[in-house]
Amino acid sequence: MEHKLPELPWSNDALAPHISPETLEYHYGKHHAAYVTKLNAGIKGTEFENSTLEEIVMKASGGLFNNAAQVWNHTFYWNGLAPKAGGPATGAIADAINGKWGSFDKFKEEFTNSAATNFASGWTWLVKDSSGNLEILNTDDADTAMKHGKTALLTIDVWEHAYYVDYRNARPKYIEAFWNLVNWDFVNKNFA
Ligand code: MN
Repeated sequence: MEHKLPELPWSNDALAPHISPETLEYHYGKHHAAYVTKLNAGIKGTEFENSTLEEIVMKASGGLFNNAAQVWNHTFYWNGLAPKAGGPATGAIADAINGKWGSFDKFKEEFTNSAATNFASGWTWLVKDSSGNLEILNTDDADTAMKHGKTALLTIDVWEHAYYVDYRNARPKYIEAFWNLVNWDFVNKNFA
């Protein structure tokens, strides 16, 4: 089964000025695309040839896991972003965040700190566990929420390739911009 690079859910200038078309040209057009190419090459002649992406993420290891998980993580990340979005959480996830952290601002502060101090090329996640409890999770490299038995609700890519074109080394500025783009409808869909 050939895995495809999914189309972005918006045009590549839609997230500007927070995330530029040039960043997307590289981050989506080169990095994400390369993970898909390497995934397809890596499954050839293996037990994973007809597996779904999620099955590969859960069962594979080494380079194959890395490429499969990065394909999944990036698609999930793009869907969590939208133009004319961001601001405080809405809907059921807003109530759940208030229940867990007391306020949206407190949650935002903790998530921001986790993403800023994630000492890795990695990802910072809002996840829920099997009992529905929310938590913030940092992962390294390609590691991903489902490997920890968690349901991903939202993620931010904190690999340097996610922000170096727009913000150089200033990861905190990129994280600040991210809050203008969070697609709370998508987060609510994952939370339901
Ligand atoms: Mn990335």
